[in-house]
Amino acid sequence: MQARYRRAVVKVGSNVLTRGDGTLDVAVMEGIVDQLAGMMKLGMEIILVSSGAVASGKALISSHRKLDAVSARQLYSSIGQVRLINSYCELFARHGIVCGQVLTTKESLSTRDHYLNQMNCMNTMLENGVIPVVNENDTISVTELMFTDNDELSGLVASMMNAECLVILSNVAGIYDGPPQDPSSSVIPEIRPGDDVSGFIDPGKKSSFGRGGMLTKYRIAAKVADEGIEVAIADGKKEGILTDILSDSPRADMRYTRFLPSEKPISHVKKWIAHSDGFAKGEIHINEGAYRALTGDRASSLLPVGVTSVKGEFEKGDIVRIMAPDGHAVGVGKVSAGSVRAAESIGQKGKRPLIHYDYLYIDISE
Ligand code: GLU
Repeated sequence: MQARYRRAVVKVGSNVLTRGDGTLDVAVMEGIVDQLAGMMKLGMEIILVSSGAVASGKALISSHRKLDAVSARQLYSSIGQVRLINSYCELFARHGIVCGQVLTTKESLSTRDHYLNQMNCMNTMLENGVIPVVNENDTISVTELMFTDNDELSGLVASMMNAECLVILSNVAGIYDGPPQDPSSSVIPEIRPGDDVSGFIDPGKKSSFGRGGMLTKYRIAAKVADEGIEVAIADGKKEGILTDILSDSPRADMRYTRFLPSEKPISHVKKWIAHSDGFAKGEIHINEGAYRALTGDRASSLLPVGVTSVKGEFEKGDIVRIMAPDGHAVGVGKVSAGSVRAAESIGQKGKRPLIHYDYLYIDISE
């Protein structure tokens, strides 16, 4: 057996790692760690993004005071993360593998400097044979500063670390072509770039412990695949599933959804920008001509002549959202001027780009 990828990010959801009562399911964790260790022995570099801190913390303590939602999350994650990382540490040690903890926040990845620091840290860990175990720092990232869920975080990590594959493990076998509980529905095995299967997914369905639902997973998977990274969504409790996805010898009886990667090359900076939507400081509204240029086949920058209005306060180098004439967001980019100068230049011809093509990410999938 050989490793199918050079470097992969594996995200494990709370529902995979915990039992119905919220305590960590060590047998499942052991199975996942054994499979990851097997792949590492074959030379694959792995970054593990693991949820489960809040769910397992909740099972560890019964608070005597009534807590508000934010304090509860802070308390549970602070104790649950210790339990989680200790379990991983012990399980990886059985294979002679050292694991390291990386706790991060959306805010700390919003500046390019911090993003590069975080990347450097994980590259150093990998170079030294250490497996990074990543989670959001739930003790300080609350409400609007939070990642939507760890699916979003894992997409960013896969892109940041230039992984060849992202595996999202949940308690569902993949994306179905109908309601998963309906016996006539089946798992879609392959989604190609440009395919839209979002219509099959029930938008209201959330998992019981984790924050994300299938629609978020689908959106993240499609975006990451569009950046040239293969993505798999699979049932993490299924024995042998990871080995099946990550090795070159798949079994015929394994069902999961694989997103084939797009073949167009995308630069590292663009990948960062693609995941920076949540950090946007303002909006730039564009006219029909600019919309056609930006969404067309040729590489185009956003010029002041195509701008109709500027909203919010931002500085040169900040991330802004680009809004189409009909008001929907079409992408994000890093601006070369602050909001005051950008507003002054509206409609002017022959000016330098407000967002250069290299710092622009257009997404017309929604
Ligand atoms: N960071 C959270 C935890 O470890 C999970 C967030 C999610 O559900 O994706 O509990």
